[in-house]
Amino acid sequence: MRTFTASKQNIMSKRYTITTALPYTNGPIHIGHLAGVYVPADIYARYLRLTGNDVVLIGGSDEHGVPITIKAKNEGVTPQDIVDKYHAIIKKSFEDFGISFDNYSRTSAPIHHKTASEFFKTLNEKGEFIEEITEQLYDAEANQFLADRFVTGTCPKCGNEEAYGDQCEKCGTSLNATDLINPKSTLTGNTPTLKETKHWFLPLNKHEDFLKKWILEGHKKDWKPNVYGQVKSWIDDGLRPRAVTRDLDWGIPVPAEGGEGKVLYVWFDAPIGYISSTIEWAEREGKDWEPYWKDENTKLIHFIGKDNIVFHCIIFPSMLKAEGSYILPENVPANEFLNLEGNKLSTSKNWAVWLPEYLEEFPDQQDVLRYVLTANAPETKDNDFTWKDFQARNNNELVAIFGNFINRVVVLTNKYYDGVVPEPSDFTDVDLETLAAVKAYPNVIASSIERYRFREAGQELMNLARLGNKYLADAEPWKVIKEDEARTKTIMYVALQIASALATLSEPFLPFTSTKLKGILNVSSSAVENSWNDVSEKEVLLPANHQIGKAELLFSKIEDKTIQEQLNKLEASKKANEAANKAIEPQKDTITFEDFTKLDIRVGTILEAEKMPKTKKLLVLKVDTGIDTRTIVSGIAESFSPEEVVGKKVTVLVNLAPRKLRGVESQGMILMTETPEGKLVFVNPDESDDVKAGSQIS
Ligand SMILES: [Zn+2]
Repeated sequence: MRTFTASKQNIMSKRYTITTALPYTNGPIHIGHLAGVYVPADIYARYLRLTGNDVVLIGGSDEHGVPITIKAKNEGVTPQDIVDKYHAIIKKSFEDFGISFDNYSRTSAPIHHKTASEFFKTLNEKGEFIEEITEQLYDAEANQFLADRFVTGTCPKCGNEEAYGDQCEKCGTSLNATDLINPKSTLTGNTPTLKETKHWFLPLNKHEDFLKKWILEGHKKDWKPNVYGQVKSWIDDGLRPRAVTRDLDWGIPVPAEGGEGKVLYVWFDAPIGYISSTIEWAEREGKDWEPYWKDENTKLIHFIGKDNIVFHCIIFPSMLKAEGSYILPENVPANEFLNLEGNKLSTSKNWAVWLPEYLEEFPDQQDVLRYVLTANAPETKDNDFTWKDFQARNNNELVAIFGNFINRVVVLTNKYYDGVVPEPSDFTDVDLETLAAVKAYPNVIASSIERYRFREAGQELMNLARLGNKYLADAEPWKVIKEDEARTKTIMYVALQIASALATLSEPFLPFTSTKLKGILNVSSSAVENSWNDVSEKEVLLPANHQIGKAELLFSKIEDKTIQEQLNKLEASKKANEAANKAIEPQKDTITFEDFTKLDIRVGTILEAEKMPKTKKLLVLKVDTGIDTRTIVSGIAESFSPEEVVGKKVTVLVNLAPRKLRGVESQGMILMTETPEGKLVFVNPDESDDVKAGSQIS
């Protein structure tokens, strides 16, 4: 590792390289992505910049995954068409939600192909790979080797029948396609055969000792228990060589002899995307990228979801270690998963809140979503996003506490003093305690952020707003002004200091609100703008005689109706999924015409109907079959009330052998079908009066 001279600026400042999981460009992103990775990373980066550190926040689109080639095939377009489309959508969502990337790149960029290619060559030349001819799953009909998402089967670890060839999404186990039990090609549905092919493998077993020492001994205390636990269980299971190449035509060509027709495994090239994105940024900014990846004083932090732990804690560090000139991550604060209304977020099932859609329906309310996702961040366990909670946190916290406090302060300052910060006189004990409490907040919030406890940090920010709201409510300047002008000035001065602190400290969490509030307080110019540490250290945050602007609403109440619309949308998704999941039954065995003529099916009319006592499903019907009036027991009570069916013309199989149901003999069967939602429907003759009971169906 190389050591670089300390930066010329603040000697106390540190250099941070912060990376965020590269989203697959096969669809837009949703709240799960934002909550798990991008909002926490953005809070972290913004906080570190505010405290004077040298920060680069890196992101980019992962454009080489097999899902992309599958989607392209399904839509009849090229993979490049797919990634161009979604890269633009994803990049815009990040900008819209204020994710403050210093660079957002893409793995199809030439700089990335070059960087990943060179990385592979270096490891290859150093003899860090093993080359092996192995038997891989092959789909003869599709003329293609099957790896990763091209094959599904049963997970050998947990029995999930829909595990993929690279990973089981249920238990998180990282797999090789040949590990799957009962593998099936996702291209043709065929059972694949085995065929020989040559691949390059990274011998993870060779790095086991290093990983044990570095993580299991070195990061026992500072890594999150969920991350540490997962890593430990993998290492304890024993690590095996892992293929870093694939038989595919979409990706980065393998730069080695015999690599024709093969590309780098997406999980080999994707994390190198962090490096290429940093290089792209440095070239644009006229900086040297290497200290950000090679100086041992740089802190490298990977923000990811729990499904990526193995790649960021075992595979990528082994690659970096093998290369030899790179630093290793200082921490990998992976989050668990966010659920939506109690169910797992799912792109294919459209069970999600999509960011572009959210912005259309809640324009200019990005901070509300950022706030709620932070408050519910799945930091230590899976967590649930519900629309009711979204509404409650907006209405009861952002509107009623934060917004209400700021609005009162600004409105009263304008009303009493034409928007000029008044001169305070003697401070009371409560004033002094309040001002001292404000000064403590930068450290309190910072301590939570630095330990990756963003929920806690967000709640501390809200506590500062609570402090302000309570101070004002207790001090009642709107009453005091009638008898004591000097005291009123002091109260308003203190409240304005709290408002100013909120403008600064809210920036990492609520960047749009912070900008708006700084505008209202007229503190965007350097003379009165405060840094994070100023809030603790400066005697005065907003000086007397400073002119502030007019009040503007920071947040607005969300009505029940708006929330109900969101719930209705989810309900519609649920129905559509149920319908889609209803499998079409395969055709039964062929029968002869003679077989068919054995069935005596006639038109009948229901004359009477009543519920079978003590059952949920059964109705006892009296049916006029034209031949006779007979009793038929029918399992339709969950779809129809007795009153609904009386008088109805129905189709009856009249020569079905009678059988007893709950002691009542049923003499025939009424023909029914079912809607996708499971509601029964009569198979009716046309409701024509010309068709009489007893007419035969043939
Ligand atoms: Zn599994």
